[in-house]
Amino acid sequence: MFPIRELLEGGGDVTLFFYNPNIHPLVEWERRFDNAKRVAEHYRVPLIVDDRSHSYEWRARENDGDDRCHFCYETRLARVVREAAANGFDAVSSTLLVSPYQKREIILEVGAKLSTEAGISFIQYDWRDGFREGQAMAREFGLYRQKYCGCVVSLESSSFFEKVMREHEQLVLSECLSFGVRFAD
Ligand code: SF4
Repeated sequence: MFPIRELLEGGGDVTLFFYNPNIHPLVEWERRFDNAKRVAEHYRVPLIVDDRSHSYEWRARENDGDDRCHFCYETRLARVVREAAANGFDAVSSTLLVSPYQKREIILEVGAKLSTEAGISFIQYDWRDGFREGQAMAREFGLYRQKYCGCVVSLESSSFFEKVMREHEQLVLSECLSFGVRFAD
């Protein structure tokens, strides 16, 4: 919420783009997407969504350390930059730049390279001073605050692994039940 509020107060004409193919499992993807929708509605800004997921690619890179994060930022930012360039946007940035836990130098390097190639700007905001305020805003608004970065590797190294997987199993079960199953006599 903090970056969006800052951009709007600065007079920006803001469109959000949600593309997180890295997020594992589905229950977590849906939770973050639902919250992105709530924020877009709250600030009355458009939200473009690419709902594809190919989180298995992050599993394949589980031993790659920072290279996995480089791949992750590049995959997501490339999609955003492509969308922005095709639709006449002047610039892109990333809400990741509010987090002191993200690898800022890699994000800036990747964002600048992709944007230059596409002929638009990558704005290197430093919103990290607003991280705590953003958390307070989210708490007040009743938003879910993520418990791990997003990919399967970050989930498995988090203390929330079992809880998230239990929630995921419940989601899968309820979706199976909602189809309705009829057995022959
Ligand atoms: S730890 Fe975060 S930035 Fe790195 S690959 Fe996983 S989801 Fe992406």
